[in-house]
Amino acid sequence: MRKILFTLIILSTAGIVCAQPKGGKGGGNQAQAIKEVKPGLYLVTGAGGNSSVRVTSEGIILVDGKLPAEGNYDKLMELIKSVSNQPIKYMLLTHHHQDHTGNDDKFLALGIPVIAHENLKSNLVTYAATPKPAPPSVTYSTDYTVKLGGVTVEAHHYGRAHTSGDTVVYFPDLKVVALSDELGVGTPPGSRAPLADYAGGGSLVEWPSVLDKVLKLDWDLAIPGNDDPQPRSYVQSYRDNIAKVVDRAKAAVKMGVPKDQLMASIKMDDLSFKLMLQPAALDGFYDELMKSK
Ligand SMILES: [Zn+2]
Repeated sequence: MRKILFTLIILSTAGIVCAQPKGGKGGGNQAQAIKEVKPGLYLVTGAGGNSSVRVTSEGIILVDGKLPAEGNYDKLMELIKSVSNQPIKYMLLTHHHQDHTGNDDKFLALGIPVIAHENLKSNLVTYAATPKPAPPSVTYSTDYTVKLGGVTVEAHHYGRAHTSGDTVVYFPDLKVVALSDELGVGTPPGSRAPLADYAGGGSLVEWPSVLDKVLKLDWDLAIPGNDDPQPRSYVQSYRDNIAKVVDRAKAAVKMGVPKDQLMASIKMDDLSFKLMLQPAALDGFYDELMKSK
């Protein structure tokens, strides 16, 4: 109950974060851990969303930077230094939520380019988080490529899903893709329902087509925004579960089911997750269902 209450408080006062942070609420010394995903690629868990660390011979490309706090930043840097002495040369942000963008100001202050989708920058304007993440220094609209030390890292925007400014980060030589909160896992795996931040331009209706584009890339491991990396079969299954709930909601709206009865009318007992929407998300979902009728 306390967890649920805390989540609601976050939603109502500080802007959406994607999942309950582990190890306490706020502060700056939440537990973090680093582990190798594949040679040259590390995952830092805890203190917000997952961060990916791609080590090259000429520097590091970092994806996402934890919840805002000096202690979280210091710990992240300490863990990165434990696997490489290379400096961070680029930072990529997967979307505007502060459990991913927190501390981007500190990287900008070091002169490190912070790269994000252009809609991330506009989503920050109305994002009700304190402290508000700093705007990225480099934005792109469809695709962006970083080359460093003979390594290529690609940023792709495949449409609206978790937000309107989602970036999928692809590590082609390692066959890994970082999907951030476009991929929910939870315990048991599959139980974390997709969270579309409608205020931030998210969309459940478009989500399956975004994952379809991800599945066209050549990779065998996907890093979610929280929890452990997953194989292709998991991403396919998660995509199919979202498509099912969207298709059923579309059918309900076509039959004239009103908004306040929509969620109760959708069969979900054969899905891996139970989709429960806050009032604002229900408004957003219903609106896009009406438009796609
Ligand atoms: Zn998020």
